[in-house]
Amino acid sequence: FDRMKQAVSRTRESLGERIEGVIALTREVDEAALEDLEMSLIASDIGVTTAAEIIERLRDRGKRQGIRNGAELKDLLREHLKQILDEQQRPVAKVAAPPEVIMMVGVNGTGKTTTSGKLAAWYRAQAKTVLMCAADTFRAAAIEQLEVWGERSGVEIVRTKQGGDPSAVLFDALQAAKSRHNDVLIVDTAGRLHTKNSLMAELDKMRRTTQRIIPDAPHEVLLVMDATTGQNGLQQARLFTESAGVTGIVLTKLDGTAKGGIAIAIARELKLPVRFVGVGEKIEDILPFDSGAFVDSLLG
Ligand code: GDP
Repeated sequence: FDRMKQAVSRTRESLGERIEGVIALTREVDEAALEDLEMSLIASDIGVTTAAEIIERLRDRGKRQGIRNGAELKDLLREHLKQILDEQQRPVAKVAAPPEVIMMVGVNGTGKTTTSGKLAAWYRAQAKTVLMCAADTFRAAAIEQLEVWGERSGVEIVRTKQGGDPSAVLFDALQAAKSRHNDVLIVDTAGRLHTKNSLMAELDKMRRTTQRIIPDAPHEVLLVMDATTGQNGLQQARLFTESAGVTGIVLTKLDGTAKGGIAIAIARELKLPVRFVGVGEKIEDILPFDSGAFVDSLLG
């Protein structure tokens, strides 16, 4: 909780401070106040459409029951934002038999490999046995980088040489995780191939390979998104959500932005739950997502 607060406090300084004037306790909540609030929401990366929808709901409520003061407006806003996030929260797919297979997908540089390593340590801390698969055989340093994370978290990795067939190394990892009865298999995948189509085709092939060995897997396909790229990241994300069967989001680098509103845009526009947030470069800098704590941090 405290660490979420700390990481998102830059966000709070931004959105919280921006709306401070809008929701000052004594000010009457009129159309001008709502318009100010709309601008503040947009500035926090919530997105134009989502901001307009939220303001419309507040305006409706104002017409029906009135909004007495800034504090009430803030409470209503908090409630709306939390609801948008909660609507997308859903349980992780049931795992018929271990391992739970988690595929990490996303554009290069978003923090996929780092998050794979952090997640491995996170599951280890939950007393789970973990195996990692280095299936990003395209990016030169990805395999070595994952190995370093493996050493840090005490998790073994299944790897091949650079340029190797990702589905082949995945096949080996699935067999290994299954025969060793590992609880979790984390698969780091490529964020870039020669073309977008070849990347999507590769991810699809990996999915089919997985299903051949474990029919109900992958149980999670986590799209890693960099919070600092804001609305641009959302555009990139659509490519993956359309073709990679994404089931949830990891929002990284939340420590590096004053605009946490992107989490709301993700829920509203991608219709996906945020599962984890990344709040730094160290192994422990990952937190399971908590909508209440997040919105509180956002609004201050
Ligand atoms: P990949 O290409 O998607 O595998 O990205 P990497 O895992 O190599 O990460 C790219 C950079 O982002 C590295 O310098 C990481 O240390 C950094 N990074 C990843 N997650 C976070 C985070 O939550 N906060 C911060 N500040 N940096 C992060």
